[in-house]
Amino acid sequence: MGQPAVIAQLRSRIGDVAGSGLCVSIPERPLLVRRIPFIGGGMQGTPTILERVRSLIERLAPAPICDECISEKLSLSWKSQANQAARELVGRDDFERLSDVCTICGGPKITTRKALR
Ligand SMILES: [Zn+2]
Repeated sequence: MGQPAVIAQLRSRIGDVAGSGLCVSIPERPLLVRRIPFIGGGMQGTPTILERVRSLIERLAPAPICDECISEKLSLSWKSQANQAARELVGRDDFERLSDVCTICGGPKITTRKALR
């Protein structure tokens, strides 16, 4: 009762969609996984983690800060991000990593600091 008409209507709609080219087959290649911005990969205008870590350490200089406190201060998702950024800074612009007492948490830690000249 009325069903054939409905089916006919649906069929014609499906036909419209198929005919309009909207009904595309599933793409063969998987969707590109969006790259998560990490060190050096910040979007324009957004400071990278490396830049944020650098400015934090520079503000504290010459006081040392540990990776945990860096990630906490900068609300980083992972401590390893702070660790990687800090290690990247070492060896340039007087940044150094040393076993010291962290200025923030007071614990004996591997810390990073910028030496003042
Ligand atoms: Zn600390």
